[in-house]
Amino acid sequence: MIPMPAPDPAIMARRAEIQDALRALLDNPGDLICEGLALKVYETDGLSAYRQVPLAVVLPRSTTEVARLLAYCHDQGIKVIARGSGTSLAGGALPTQDAVILGVSKMNQVLDIDYDNRCARVQAGVTNINVSNAVELENFFYAPDPSSQLACTIAGNVAMNSGGAHCLKYGVTTNNLLGLTVVLMDGRITTIGSEAMDGDGYDLLGLFTGSEGMLGVVTEVLVRILPKPEGARPMLVGFKSEELAGACVAEIIGQGIVPVAIEFMDKPAILASEAFAKAGYPTDAQALLIIEVEGSELEIEAQEARIQEIAGHYDPVSIKLAENATQAEAIWRGRKSAFGAMGQISPDYLCMDGTIPTGKLPEVLSRIKQVGEAYGFQIANIFHAGDGNLHPLILYDANAPGEIDRVEAAGEDILKICVEVGGCITGEHGVGIEKRDAMMLMFNETDLQQQMRIKRVFDPLWLLNGAKVFPLDINPADTKGQRIAA
Ligand SMILES: Cc1cc2nc3c(=O)[nH]c(=O)nc-3n(C[C@H](O)[C@H](O)[C@H](O)COP(=O)(O)OP(=O)(O)OC[C@H]3O[C@@H](n4cnc5c(N)ncnc54)[C@H](O)[C@@H]3O)c2cc1C
Repeated sequence: MIPMPAPDPAIMARRAEIQDALRALLDNPGDLICEGLALKVYETDGLSAYRQVPLAVVLPRSTTEVARLLAYCHDQGIKVIARGSGTSLAGGALPTQDAVILGVSKMNQVLDIDYDNRCARVQAGVTNINVSNAVELENFFYAPDPSSQLACTIAGNVAMNSGGAHCLKYGVTTNNLLGLTVVLMDGRITTIGSEAMDGDGYDLLGLFTGSEGMLGVVTEVLVRILPKPEGARPMLVGFKSEELAGACVAEIIGQGIVPVAIEFMDKPAILASEAFAKAGYPTDAQALLIIEVEGSELEIEAQEARIQEIAGHYDPVSIKLAENATQAEAIWRGRKSAFGAMGQISPDYLCMDGTIPTGKLPEVLSRIKQVGEAYGFQIANIFHAGDGNLHPLILYDANAPGEIDRVEAAGEDILKICVEVGGCITGEHGVGIEKRDAMMLMFNETDLQQQMRIKRVFDPLWLLNGAKVFPLDINPADTKGQRIAA
């Protein structure tokens, strides 16, 4: 079990008084949640084995309201955790009992769309899919497309530097942002970046992107929007082994071909997804790749021909090109519902998220299999193979005694493999609480102290999401350290 800091007894004793003060600061008193089931909804995130009920939840609707709330919490020494939709998979949005959750779900307006300058300004709580929906009629889209895009917010994407299937060509969140409006923990409002391509001064936009809600609360986001390509088409290629599929990915990338997406699924993932989404996946294959290319019809056909030729080197069991929009949609439906489909074959899963150099895919896939065998867990692999971002899903039962500890140990072994081959411990899901200690695999204490100094510049009292990212034995959030119940 992952330890969390003990709640501050002085804050816990003032619970009712703090809740009253927060209510008075909100424009709508109903935007405070402080009891019952409504509060329990916020006790966890996508890393659902861990739960802590927060002190209160506030759901402000504007930047000025956020500023008022943060200034009060800062003056009173109250911890705050910003929250979008709570889909993070590493415990990033997990509350602590003495913290106020500041949710941005009611800040859900698209504020401005500027097609000439190819950008859109949206409030923090707009969902990822609704950014693309807002510009679709003019044939534009927002490129990063996490599989959780129906639910997750743009602010959550910024905080986690989220990626998605189509990020191989277009880059992840950090490559698709122009600016942010941020409220600092003491209530001051600051803007970062602008519509201009390259700003002056330090790259604060880069610093805030991926900072896991520890430096400030994002209230508005200025995103790049892109014209839709003329056409796009996915293909499905089935293989006799994971290693052959991995080797095929390595050769496609090695040849300098950049499809929009290369997604990998192994046999357990194929079977679970097919039973759920009925996308026409090859159930006789041990692994499959979804490879999407885009451009004019001529460009698509030329890329498809090269990819089929490369796939032919790896003895594929099937190659199926999407023949129409319905087939293309089905191929992506299968992939995007694959995580959810795991619920059919296992009560719980731990979704790991590491990156590796793509050339190491075959080796790493066979080492992951060995980890599963050593711990007695089935591991399903679904991941963005083109950029080497792995998502091994370790299937387990959180109610079985001791399984959480064993599944976390297996997960750590997988992260060690990623680091050993030259990769890192998170591609897009972040560190949160889950991988705090794994930070030691990548950084020494001096590195981590430097990173903590940066947090102190923005949040000297260490109030904003402080129990995350940094290992607790060097993290100022660790007052006493207690184990939290699953
Ligand atoms: C089924 C499923 C599939 C997924 N697929 C992908 C995928 O393909 N790619 C991917 O990258 N991720 C994926 N994720 C993970 C998750 O959806 C992303 O990390 C997402 O960006 C989180 O957004 P959210 O709104 O849910 O944020 P939350 O979970 O609410 O918060 C995440 C972090 O952001 C911080 N935060 C939230 N709002 C703010 C704010 N306004 N200001 C500052 N910090 C803030 C929180 O404090 C927390 O640290 C998936 C998750 C699930 C459950």
